[in-house]
Amino acid sequence: MNSTGPASLEPPRPVPPPPPSPSPAADALPPGLQPWERGWFWWQKGEGLTFFWIALIHVLGVLGVILFPTPGPTVLLIAFVFFFLGGFGTTVGYHRSLAHLSVRLRRPAEAVLIFLAVFNGSGSPATWAANHRKHHANADKDADISSPRHGFWWSHLRWLWQADQASVKRWAPDLDRPFYRFFTRWQWAILLLSLVAGAPLGWAGLLWIGPVRLVVSLHMQCFINSIAHMRENAAPGEDSSQNIAWLGLFHAFQGENWHGNHHAKPWSARIGWTWWQVDLGWTAIRAMEVTGLATKVNRPK
Ligand SMILES: [Zn+2]
Ligand SMILES: [Zn+2]
Repeated sequence: MNSTGPASLEPPRPVPPPPPSPSPAADALPPGLQPWERGWFWWQKGEGLTFFWIALIHVLGVLGVILFPTPGPTVLLIAFVFFFLGGFGTTVGYHRSLAHLSVRLRRPAEAVLIFLAVFNGSGSPATWAANHRKHHANADKDADISSPRHGFWWSHLRWLWQADQASVKRWAPDLDRPFYRFFTRWQWAILLLSLVAGAPLGWAGLLWIGPVRLVVSLHMQCFINSIAHMRENAAPGEDSSQNIAWLGLFHAFQGENWHGNHHAKPWSARIGWTWWQVDLGWTAIRAMEVTGLATKVNRPK
């Protein structure tokens, strides 16, 4: 609707589409042992902290469930609200806006959504978008960073610390800017805050609002790379994305479970295309469009 607001509120980014490979050789597999052929405890150079973080929240999360199997309604409600808001940060902020440019957000809305995504453990905005654009450009081919061709656990989790992460300069040069780099630089502080945010509610609050919620959020996102890409009748190398209706329940109906739709029209800000394909991410975008916080909204037609 309102696409003529103050220029200072518009993210000043020219919007290049993900570039094609400079040459087929650039995306070819390197010689030698491939990362998915190694053990779980090997990490790609520079990804040691990612491995440590994922291990840490799992250990603390399991501890939380064992020590406090029933943390009480207040703790559960707060954990769910963080999970729910973080989901919007990832699907609307990172996925639909930053990675696919299917909607343009006013700077304040963009900043809030990026914060929520980092707080939810989705990583830095530029790296997320770079990995995701590379995934779409190479879906289920050798250069697909999270392809289930290398096994469920590779696509679900292991690629996060074992894959060679996509280059931001190549895949997301439009996000290689101070505004986005700020969140990369301060990611550690936001994650630390996220980890201990429940401390005022005691040990149960600390463990459930922190690690348990972060583990659940992580695996819900990971399902998109794993089972939403494990369509049984996909030919080798064919895009294996699929819609999975029941996954909507675990994504709080925020729309990412319609992943087959999404791969068919990645430029669309709306991922659930019919009334019964519930997509609260789209509802949020519509609300932001009406209030002027979102502009240039691409529809699936
Ligand atoms: Zn995909
Ligand atoms: Zn996508």
